[in-house]
Amino acid sequence: MKDYGLLQVYTGSGKGKTTAALGVALRAAGRGAKTVMLSFLKDDPDYGEAMAAQYLPHFLLRQVGRDAFVNFHNPDPIDLKMVRKGWEEAKKILIEDTADLLILDELNIVLATGMLPLEEVIDFLKKYKGKTEIITTGRGAPEELIDIADLVTDMQEIKHYFHKGVSSRDGIDH
Ligand code: ATP
Ligand code: MG
Repeated sequence: MKDYGLLQVYTGSGKGKTTAALGVALRAAGRGAKTVMLSFLKDDPDYGEAMAAQYLPHFLLRQVGRDAFVNFHNPDPIDLKMVRKGWEEAKKILIEDTADLLILDELNIVLATGMLPLEEVIDFLKKYKGKTEIITTGRGAPEELIDIADLVTDMQEIKHYFHKGVSSRDGIDH
């Protein structure tokens, strides 16, 4: 896709990171671009975007985690293995140039918690000179990722209904 190929990072503690990335995917679909979204740390069909994927042309969503709580302080080897597999898949897409837009959902937190070696990922992304636009999402994006990104947006929480007891809502939060 013409002009694609930059690295965008959506981070911060406020709501809107994943949904912003999905907004770009919608816009990209309108232009005939092909999007692959790899959702790290997740295996849950009960997400609106997973259900909507079939309606969006050239949009592939793959959850590359498992349906279990991830202990970031002491990650289970299975989770580390799945994260590694997801990253290898991401690299393959970039090397083989099989997507115009690659969304790496929650990669920021994966890097921030050391579930993937930061240096290895930064090195790869730094050298990557392909035509695929990359968006990473998740809280706590490491400085090293912010340094090499072309765009960084920090979603700042001003208010969130969660704090007044409104829990995750279908079609709004998942
Ligand atoms: P969304 O998917 O809605 O764009 P997000 O990607 O910015 O949210 P995540 O850190 O991935 O946020 O967390 C996902 C879930 O947590 C969503 O259901 C979201 O509504 C909720 N959430 C996001 N930010 C907050 C917050 N500051 N306090 C409580 N819940 C939050
Ligand atoms: Mg998210």
